[in-house]
Amino acid sequence: MQPIEGSRRYYLDSYTTTFRTSIRERTVADGRPAVVLAETFFYPSSGGQPHDTGTLADRRVVDVLVREPDGAIVHVLDAPLADHLTEVDGLIDWPRRLDHMQQHTGQHVLSQAFIRAAGAATIGFHLGVDYVSIDLDHGNVDDGTRAAAFQEANAAVAADLAIRAWFPSAAELASISLRKTPEVDGALRIVAIGDFDVSACGGTHVARTGEVGLIHWLRTERLKRGTRISFLCGDRARRDYAEKQRIVATLSANLSCAVPELPDAVARLQADLQATRRDLGRLREEALDREATALRQEAAGSPARVLRAWEGRPVEEVRGLALRLTAGPGVVALLATGGERTQFVFSRSEDLGLDLKAALDRALAVIGGGKGGGGRVVQGGGGPTDSATLDRALAAAATGLGGG
Ligand SMILES: [Zn+2]
Repeated sequence: MQPIEGSRRYYLDSYTTTFRTSIRERTVADGRPAVVLAETFFYPSSGGQPHDTGTLADRRVVDVLVREPDGAIVHVLDAPLADHLTEVDGLIDWPRRLDHMQQHTGQHVLSQAFIRAAGAATIGFHLGVDYVSIDLDHGNVDDGTRAAAFQEANAAVAADLAIRAWFPSAAELASISLRKTPEVDGALRIVAIGDFDVSACGGTHVARTGEVGLIHWLRTERLKRGTRISFLCGDRARRDYAEKQRIVATLSANLSCAVPELPDAVARLQADLQATRRDLGRLREEALDREATALRQEAAGSPARVLRAWEGRPVEEVRGLALRLTAGPGVVALLATGGERTQFVFSRSEDLGLDLKAALDRALAVIGGGKGGGGRVVQGGGGPTDSATLDRALAAAATGLGGG
């Protein structure tokens, strides 16, 4: 049996996507068919980098994982391989693998750049479908420091540094200064990015930093212990740039201003909106005051009764009217809004001892609605009601309240 490192061919070759090898073991992983191969170029989920996908013979490889304790690479398939097969052709989905190589290599470069720009060490790494991030051990990474680190990282990309991955001898390893010393049993795999960065890593990387294309900052978040920097590399960064450009161009056209003027234009809009909302709120209050005064003047009887229903009127407005109508003495307001939902708002002046809960129950019985509460202002409702039913409900509520 060859050592594990030898069977993991991706360790020394990140670019081969097709290979032929023998099946060493047929097995099951979480109830799904799986195989172990004599050797493989498929990368298993590990070290923060997601697994490869692809095919073995005519089956899809849906997951690749490291089996403990023997370290075998288990290829999980969508269906079992044909029984007669002893060898298979493997094919790795290259766009997914290249994306992982770009993000992962970009991470090495950026981690080193943050050490140089801020003395901040990377203590976490996430490579997901939606975002890529590193966690730094520094609590305050200001915008200037962050920008300097990304500039340093992109300078390393532009320098198109050669990247080498190998297993050094113990003697050679002793002479290498690593960015971070990992806790690993067995042979240590070293990844050197020119003279820029040397670290221990088991992932797949591009051959030259130029292939990372671009290392682009997305956002900075404060963590309990440190700072999270989200970023994008390679094609992800270019796609993100294209999408941002599309959004910015749309905003620029909609606001009829040049792109550099967008922040000021949005700030002006926000200020205008705030002032308009304030004015609108004041006008609404004044309109409700006038409407309440008019309704009070129309009301007859002692106590004065105001029965009124609207269709689709916001219940806050109806409540505002009820409170205004009954702020002074001698008024009972039986108001309702119908439409898709029905809401009754009944209110009485402090000096009236009327039982509004009973009135509300009578109204709710007409529309088949739910229970309401008690007190000087009561509210309750139900489903859709037409205006004729609503009028009947208010009439029923008014029965026995006196006045009118
Ligand atoms: Zn790596």
